[in-house]
Amino acid sequence: MADAITELPPVAKSFHTFCKKCDVDRYHKVLAHKTATSAKVECEVCHSKSTFTLPKAKKATTARTPRSPSANQRKSNHQSEYQELLSSLSSMEEKPYSLKAKFEIANKINHPKFGVGVVRSVQPDKIEVVFSDEVKLLIHNRP
Ligand SMILES: [Zn+2]
Repeated sequence: MADAITELPPVAKSFHTFCKKCDVDRYHKVLAHKTATSAKVECEVCHSKSTFTLPKAKKATTARTPRSPSANQRKSNHQSEYQELLSSLSSMEEKPYSLKAKFEIANKINHPKFGVGVVRSVQPDKIEVVFSDEVKLLIHNRP
């Protein structure tokens, strides 16, 4: 039994793999690499050309997975920041959002699309508002 191949042999090298035409394991010469996991090969006996594909490597797929947990983490951090802001301002009245209104830090605003948010920072013509899903930059104080 030949050892299982875990990476593509270099171009021009021969390795032992199954030939469909010969219907038996034959030495195949690597003609070219097509992708990181497949190569064009030629049977050394019948000279039929075929594509050899590596069996799926477990390493490559598991190494990249821990992405979504951190995104969830960030989301829940944002949610708790939002809830804290809202509860600390629970007695404050919500102001309806409008381009022409002027807002200040810690104002609670009610946006027709994004819902209730809290102003986190203020620039002369823009406010940064924490909404339940994300922080948005909105225009305000427009003459
Ligand atoms: Zn062959």
